[in-house]
Amino acid sequence: MNRLAGKVALVTGAGRGIGAAIARAFAAEGAAVVLAELDGATAAATAREIANACEGARTLAVQTDVTQPASLRAAVQEAQRAFGPVDVLVNNAGINVFADPLTMTDDDWRRCFAVDLDGVWNGCRAVLPGMVERCAGSIINIASTHAFQIIPGCFPYPVAKHGVIGLTRALGIEYAPKNVRVNAIAPGYIETQLTHDWWNAQPDPEAARKATLELPPMKRIGRPEEVAMTAVFLASDEAPFINASCITIDGGRTALHHE
Ligand code: NDP
Repeated sequence: MNRLAGKVALVTGAGRGIGAAIARAFAAEGAAVVLAELDGATAAATAREIANACEGARTLAVQTDVTQPASLRAAVQEAQRAFGPVDVLVNNAGINVFADPLTMTDDDWRRCFAVDLDGVWNGCRAVLPGMVERCAGSIINIASTHAFQIIPGCFPYPVAKHGVIGLTRALGIEYAPKNVRVNAIAPGYIETQLTHDWWNAQPDPEAARKATLELPPMKRIGRPEEVAMTAVFLASDEAPFINASCITIDGGRTALHHE
């Protein structure tokens, strides 16, 4: 399995969850992978786990805060020093900020946008000059089905995720002539710590979990590996004409009107 052989990939928020699954899948497909993660210890542990599980895997953990443009620029430089120019960027780091619009604090708003939208732009800005110069690159932004649909009380997360789709389309168009593809993936519910934290914050976590599993027509939620498979495809040379697009991974939930 060498669909990403020779490529250098940087994945933000790769210490756990969807980002870790993407880093694992990329390494298994032959990419050198930089795990750019807020928690340096988690990043290092995941990088080690991948290196142990996957013979010949090349991984590097770099403590990175996506809210800080300089931090992302430094991560891209470290990637270049270790493995060469970054061919693939996955802007995966994200946080849930779910509040009522009128009781939400200014800090909630800023925190959400700092990670979920500025963080994506900061990543793009750090890799685009090199990609444009080399006339090659694939950027994959992890959006959400919240980028198309609204759940009351989940403000302002969907506002930021709508922005991720706008950013994906805008940059995809800007840099298409330079052969840089910018795409998004919109997962529905995926079983990660983020989802467990949300269930645990509900008055009855078990009831919340059961209700979530009932939502998709397939009567289950997704696995991080199922998002990673699509990220591999978009990162690879198998998707050369897919640009400024978004692939939804939700078992059909978004297409369902109601049961
Ligand atoms: P997790 O919370 O499990 O993982 C997110 C990772 O991002 C964590 O390792 C976290 O690090 C890291 N991170 C958070 N803030 C920063 C930062 N400022 N700089 C660098 N890294 C950071 O989330 P998921 O894996 O579930 O989600 C990944 C992406 O997928 C997010 O963008 C999310 O919005 C999106 N998504 C998830 C869905 C789901 O159901 N799980 C559904 C739809 C979209 P730390 O632990 O140190 O804070």
